[in-house]
Amino acid sequence: MTSIDLPDIDLPDIDLHCHSTASDGTLTPAELVRAGAAAGLDVMAITDHDTTGGWAEAAAARPEGMRLVRGAELSCRWHGAEPAIPLHLLAYLFDPAEPVLAAKLAGLREDREQRGERIVAKLRADGVPITWEEVYGYAAGGSVGRPHIAQALIRAGLVKTTNEAFESAWLGARYFVPKSDLDVFDAVRTVREAGGVVVFAHPRATKRGRVVPDELITALAEAGLFGLEADHEDHSPAERAQIRALAQRLGLVVTGSSDFHGTHKTVQLGAFKTDPEMYEKIVSAATGVPVLG
Ligand code: AMP
Ligand code: FE
Ligand code: FE
Ligand code: ZN
Repeated sequence: MTSIDLPDIDLPDIDLHCHSTASDGTLTPAELVRAGAAAGLDVMAITDHDTTGGWAEAAAARPEGMRLVRGAELSCRWHGAEPAIPLHLLAYLFDPAEPVLAAKLAGLREDREQRGERIVAKLRADGVPITWEEVYGYAAGGSVGRPHIAQALIRAGLVKTTNEAFESAWLGARYFVPKSDLDVFDAVRTVREAGGVVVFAHPRATKRGRVVPDELITALAEAGLFGLEADHEDHSPAERAQIRALAQRLGLVVTGSSDFHGTHKTVQLGAFKTDPEMYEKIVSAATGVPVLG
């Protein structure tokens, strides 16, 4: 084991959770992989919400020497609480052509559009001067998300930042409309059947809302969940430690990632990283598509 006190001069820098304009990031997939290389990353994953739409462009632009893990972040829900709790699963290295998973992703994207239109209609009913056409334009063919609506609210001068747009007076509560989402157990099974590996994204992010109990994570581990994202900006140091302990108890890997979204968030590429041993376990478990590079 290496000491955590030593600088990791020889260890690869691995960031396994990054968004592009294929969903709610602000860098195109090509810009994203170039920015990753410029930030010194040796391995990066593209994990747009509910889509593999950025994979081809990211692969084509991948700088020499940087490895690219193709993935997605799936919108899921656990129905064991009332009301059901939304959560995100990171799916890595699955076959994008596997028809069951591809159809589910397409359904999620379609639902995101309908839900976006409903949020815009609610805002307009209160006199907010934004349109669905404007929001849809910001999404530019990618998965529509609330950050695109936030962008319209900023343009209209109603809020100054994306964070402010997520406060309860706006998209956080007053103008919140839920997505339909995948049942979390169905999502784990479907990704595995497509040859992918599943890591629970920011599982303890209490600042985003309700989080699921350890019992659910235990049940998901039995259903084929492979890892937990521990190091993430939305986790406190205590939450990170709890996740590590739980992962160890359940035999799951832990990851660390930036969840980079370009200027829709302040976090930078490589702000949190994944241990190479954990990364190797993820790669070894996947059978859908290879890592590129
Ligand atoms: P949606 O997927 O449409 O429900 O929108 C949530 C997305 O907005 C998540 O992917 C977040 O990464 C992003 N986001 C950006 N800023 C915030 C914020 N302050 N609170 C929650 N989500 C945020
Ligand atoms: Fe996002
Ligand atoms: Fe997420
Ligand atoms: Zn994310």
